Amino acid sequence: MIVVIKPRAAENEIQKLMDKIRIQGVDIHYSKGASQVILGLVGDTQAINRNMIASSDIVEKVLSVQEPYKKANRLIHPQDTILEIMGRKVGEGNLTVMAGPCSVESEEQIVSVAKDVQAAGAHFLRGGAFKPRTSPYSFQGMGKMGLELLSIAKKETGLPLVSELMDLQDLDLFEDVDVIQVGARNMQNFSLLKELGKIDKPILLKRGLSATIEEWIMSAEYIMAGGNEEVILCERGIRTFETMTRNTLDLSCIPIIKSKTHLPIIVDPSHATGIRWAVKAMAKAAVAAGADGIMVEVHNDPAHALCDGEQALSPVDFSQLMDSIQKISQIEGKVI
Ligand code: PEP
Ligand code: MN
Repeated sequence: MIVVIKPRAAENEIQKLMDKIRIQGVDIHYSKGASQVILGLVGDTQAINRNMIASSDIVEKVLSVQEPYKKANRLIHPQDTILEIMGRKVGEGNLTVMAGPCSVESEEQIVSVAKDVQAAGAHFLRGGAFKPRTSPYSFQGMGKMGLELLSIAKKETGLPLVSELMDLQDLDLFEDVDVIQVGARNMQNFSLLKELGKIDKPILLKRGLSATIEEWIMSAEYIMAGGNEEVILCERGIRTFETMTRNTLDLSCIPIIKSKTHLPIIVDPSHATGIRWAVKAMAKAAVAAGADGIMVEVHNDPAHALCDGEQALSPVDFSQLMDSIQKISQIEGKVI
C-alpha cells in the first residue's frame, strides 16, 4: 500500500501518521521526492485501517500495490538503490565491471588474473571457490583454499571480491568476500535466501535458468524482507529452445527490472553465450541497454581452464572489451 502525502504537509503531522500506521504492524518506507512525501507500507497490509489513513487531512490518496513484491518495488522506493562497496558505487549512473576466472585454480592463476583485470579497469575480482557443476565428476572448486587464495589476490590488488556461496554452512568462510553470489541454480533456495537476508553484505542474485522476471524479483524480496536490502540482480541468460548459445541472453529484462524495481542490474555475457567470441558483442549490448554493469569470465590460460574455458576471455581480449565498454558508457553518461 502506498500513501501519497499532500504537498506542504507538516513533517510532525507526517510522523504522527506514521506512528499510527506502524502500530498496526507494518514497516514504512519513507521517501521524499521533489515536491511530495510518499509512504510505502510493507508487510501484511490486509488488516490496515485504510479509511483511517485516507481520511487524514495530510493524505492525498492511498494506492494499492498490485505486485507481490514490496521492498524491491519501485513504487514503494522510487529512487534507484546505489550501493557503496569498498568505495565503489554500484547502481544508476555507474558502470561496474566484475571480472575473473570461473573458478580459482591456484595462487599464481588468481593473482595474475586479478592484476590483469585491474590493469584493464575492472572494479571487482570474481572467482568461484565452491562450484555448482552439472556433473559430480567435474572439478568442484577449491573450497576453503580457493577463498584463501582470493584473499591473497585482494591483498595484492585491493580489488573487492565476488564469490558464490552454495551452502550456508560455509558462510563463515566468506568473511573477506565483499559480495556474495547466489548462483542461478540456487535462485529459489529459499532457506539460503532467508539466511542471506539476515547478514550485512551485498548479495549478487543471479537469475535462475528458467525463472520469470517476477520469480527472480520475488527471490530478491526474500533477501530484502529479512532486512538485507543490498541486492544486485544479475541476468546470465535463460533456457530457451536455442542450442547455438549456452543460454539466451534476455536483454529485455533490463528495462523491465529498471521500471519495476529500484535495484541495480548487471549482465553476465559469459554464461549467457558460453562462447568466447560472442562475449564482447553481448557485453556492449548490455551496456547500451542500460545495465549497471557486467560480469565477465577472464582466464590467464583459457585453453587449460578447469571450468568454463570455452567462454573465458584472455586478459588481452578483456582489455579490448574494456575499451569498447568505456566508449559506450560515455555515450550512456555513466561513470566507469
Ligand atoms: C558462475 O558465475 O560461474 C556460475 C556458475 O554462474 P551461474 O550460476 O549463472 O551458472
Ligand atoms: Mn562459470
